[in-house]
Amino acid sequence: MSASAFWATGIIALGGLVLLGLERLFPYNPGQKIFREGFWLDLFWYTIVQSLILGLLISEFIFWLDRHGGFSRGHWVSDWPLAVQVLFFLVLHDLYIYLFHKAQHYNKWLYRLHEAHHSVKDVDWVAGSRSHPLEIVINQTIEFAPMIFLGANPLVPAIKGVISALWGMYIHSNLAMNTGWLQYIINGPEMHRYHHAIDDTKAFRKNFATKFAFWDWIFGTAYLPANKRAQKYGLGFSRYPKTYWGQVWYAFRPK
Ligand SMILES: [Zn+2]
Ligand SMILES: [Zn+2]
Repeated sequence: MSASAFWATGIIALGGLVLLGLERLFPYNPGQKIFREGFWLDLFWYTIVQSLILGLLISEFIFWLDRHGGFSRGHWVSDWPLAVQVLFFLVLHDLYIYLFHKAQHYNKWLYRLHEAHHSVKDVDWVAGSRSHPLEIVINQTIEFAPMIFLGANPLVPAIKGVISALWGMYIHSNLAMNTGWLQYIINGPEMHRYHHAIDDTKAFRKNFATKFAFWDWIFGTAYLPANKRAQKYGLGFSRYPKTYWGQVWYAFRPK
């Protein structure tokens, strides 16, 4: 394991523990359990096994593309300060993910790759990791390939990876946050939990943003009701498979 991968894993694990503790102190839905249905599935299969295997596969694929295409020879962003590079790729990818995520909720075939993510009934810090492997391959290739192709500092993918993991855990966490005006800029659980909610028809096809909430406010898809909380999450039907492989294959069902 490289030094940056070691640090990245340590910071992400620590972030998960901090969120787990904060969820106990300031819960959004007080009755929710730590070891809820699917907890070990999300932690073991999705967070550890899937992300490790796909991380290796995706980076090999991107470097293979670059060896054949020679894209990174241009060194387009190599001279930019590190912080500017990180911010540039954060905003660029976040706009992409907003648009693709929205498309997934409007197109039934794309939605099949997104169903796994919405199948968690008790949304918490580890729930966000549940994403179909094909969805991860598409999104992470589009996330990391531009960094390699445009000649970003080698630290950028590691920093971006840590930020994505921490932010993903944060927006799903069972945390009663009230960030005030910051919710117009920084996305958090108070909006993303409504994206997963099935007990409020007004939340349907709302809050597609991942990191920056401003996409939802700009494009008119924001939903943030005052003095009310989402209570029920999931797909709303019980036949959805409960095992990792069951969920992977379910996306390819005949109809
Ligand atoms: Zn969604
Ligand atoms: Zn989510």
